[in-house]
Amino acid sequence: MSATIRQHTSPNFDERGDGAVIDMLILHYTGMENRDVALARLCDETAEVSAHYFVDEDGSVLQLVDEEKRAWHAGVARWRGHNNINQRSIGIEVVNPGHEFGYRDFTEAQMNSVIVLCKDVLSRHAIPARNVVGHSDVAPTRKSDPGELFDWHRLAGEGIGVWPEESEVLEMDRDVVAGHLETVGYDVSDFPKTLRAFQRHYRGERVTGRIDAGTARRLSGLVKAVTTTP
Ligand SMILES: [Zn+2]
Repeated sequence: MSATIRQHTSPNFDERGDGAVIDMLILHYTGMENRDVALARLCDETAEVSAHYFVDEDGSVLQLVDEEKRAWHAGVARWRGHNNINQRSIGIEVVNPGHEFGYRDFTEAQMNSVIVLCKDVLSRHAIPARNVVGHSDVAPTRKSDPGELFDWHRLAGEGIGVWPEESEVLEMDRDVVAGHLETVGYDVSDFPKTLRAFQRHYRGERVTGRIDAGTARRLSGLVKAVTTTP
């Protein structure tokens, strides 16, 4: 099944550049008062922001930027040592007011569309599962989206991204944990914020920025998953 997608072109894009390879998929929430304000901003030339897709709460999907073009969604970001995240990624904005304007559950219709859309994207590009991440994963000091209510576990069950088994290994030492976060791909320049970003994605029930046993076990499991699969 393919997603039904309507075109709603944003002027905010440019060329990816010679030799660019698309190997990342970044999920966002819009984080604005409502969908109209968010959509207007993503299409406002003076705002200079955009994404490839926009998924409404009723499940409808708009395409704002062609996948071959570079959309402007990640900003200053870093993943697995790369800074040029917009050049190498597809960006999907999922409508939700976000932490600033009343964070709420993503709707069932929305998640169904996100899953179909992500599967479509993954069928067109060689994107490793470990490179399917949230905005907060690639910009942990600045961003919280799509946040702890986003059901990454369900996505992984559909073959989108990685969900870790909990490891038996319980490593609570801060330097080891920081090393694990780096192995996964995080920029660990701010440890508590990076740990929060990890928790928002992989341990949404407890986002503290502090090491606890559940976090340590899941992070160890994630390291194992990303180092044993492509
Ligand atoms: Zn974002």
